[in-house]
Amino acid sequence: MAKIKKPIQVPKGTFDILPDDQKYWKKVRSAVSDVAQSYGFGRIDTPMFEYSDLYMASVGEATDVVEKQMYSFKSKGGDMLSLRPEGTAGVARAYIENGMTNLPQPVKLYYTGPMFRYEQPQAGRFRQFHQVGLEIIGDMDPIYDAEVINAFVVICRELGLQNLNVEMNTIGCNKCRSDFRSQLLRYYKPRAAKLCRDCKRRLKENPLRLLDCKEEKCEQLKAHAPNLIDHLCEECHSHFKAVLEYLDETEIPYSLNPHLVRGFDYYTKTVFEVFLEDEHIVGDDGHPRTEKAEQSSYDGGNEKTHRRSKLALGGGGRYDNLVKLLGGKDAPAVGTGLGLDRVIGAMKQQGVKVPPIYKPDVFLVQLGALSKKKCLKLYEELRQAGIAVAESFGKDSIKTQLRAADRDGVILSLILGQKEAIDGVIIVRDMASGAQETVPLEKIVKILKEKLKK
Ligand code: AMP
Repeated sequence: MAKIKKPIQVPKGTFDILPDDQKYWKKVRSAVSDVAQSYGFGRIDTPMFEYSDLYMASVGEATDVVEKQMYSFKSKGGDMLSLRPEGTAGVARAYIENGMTNLPQPVKLYYTGPMFRYEQPQAGRFRQFHQVGLEIIGDMDPIYDAEVINAFVVICRELGLQNLNVEMNTIGCNKCRSDFRSQLLRYYKPRAAKLCRDCKRRLKENPLRLLDCKEEKCEQLKAHAPNLIDHLCEECHSHFKAVLEYLDETEIPYSLNPHLVRGFDYYTKTVFEVFLEDEHIVGDDGHPRTEKAEQSSYDGGNEKTHRRSKLALGGGGRYDNLVKLLGGKDAPAVGTGLGLDRVIGAMKQQGVKVPPIYKPDVFLVQLGALSKKKCLKLYEELRQAGIAVAESFGKDSIKTQLRAADRDGVILSLILGQKEAIDGVIIVRDMASGAQETVPLEKIVKILKEKLKK
């Protein structure tokens, strides 16, 4: 084996999730599955890579995600594959491929897992990040738009997040969009020289994307650009109005953002993004400042590295044409994706308390070779009896082991010495008072259960 000159590090834009942080992930995953399942969503797991064509056809060839950010590779068999940059396309493919069109509609699905995008890493923006997605496929009723938004907000609230705001917009259907496209071109063409390089290209390829740009100079132009909301067809207008009315009833805080478009081509009608209203921003002096969200600093990011854009916890919208576009039947749909890395960053920022994953009640101390031999079996007996145990078997001194028991904050310690192991007894030590009693080993489970009940 060749010797490595310097230690190999984690790839840029990725990170390890260490044991100390797992409590947040456990809490988030369990809140997601509780809420999703109680709103009738069934879990789906799709592969982490798909044929690249899937994303080209659905997300769109002229989008940043497909054009610049996909991890694509040729397999040994010669297939062009891509690590999934988002989850909806794979779910729509699975809906068609597994005959879900024949199930009672709509079909409600949720998923969670890593996504991959080759982005410039910064606070809250990674190359491997984690999303939860909720999709409702096969019904065009606007109540479902409100239901996915509601489920998103409920998940965030279950996680203790406060001050959420949903930014709402509609990007209409193909009919109203083609009219709007000409309006946009009429506005932007004379101003093309002032656009960033990407937007100059977007002007030719996909003018709606101009509204998605976060560059300062393009943001300024955007402020006076025409709004699609003023050019909606009758159906899109009443759909959007109904979604907002449903939201009003749920008392979800929302605001209208007529320039909100989303980064993927498959969206139609309703689009939305969810933000935290007041973010704690770390200033140049390193001290937190609270101000209206203008930019984000999740996980302690440096303000200077941010453009003036805020980071969304997630977003979503309707995608009425996607299933048909991918070769399925007509199945209008709506969905949302939450960025878990940002949700967890926000929980930490807002000081949400999360219980530890494992809290032992009892510590098993061993002294001497015979006792040490018996310990693994005893530990497993206690575990099987539902008692939360801890140990530090590699340490032989009683002092060190009791110190570890103290650190773990257990209620009781069990001390099994050489003599106890021979006599078939064990010492139970109350950690608060220091009182000790010797009890028969065969009765230990019953005795512990009684003591812990108190
Ligand atoms: P999108 O799939 O682009 O609509 O993103 C949905 C959500 O996923 C965003 O609002 C973020 O919370 C999260 N997200 C997207 N891209 C990244 C990334 N590169 N790093 C971390 N989170 C991301």
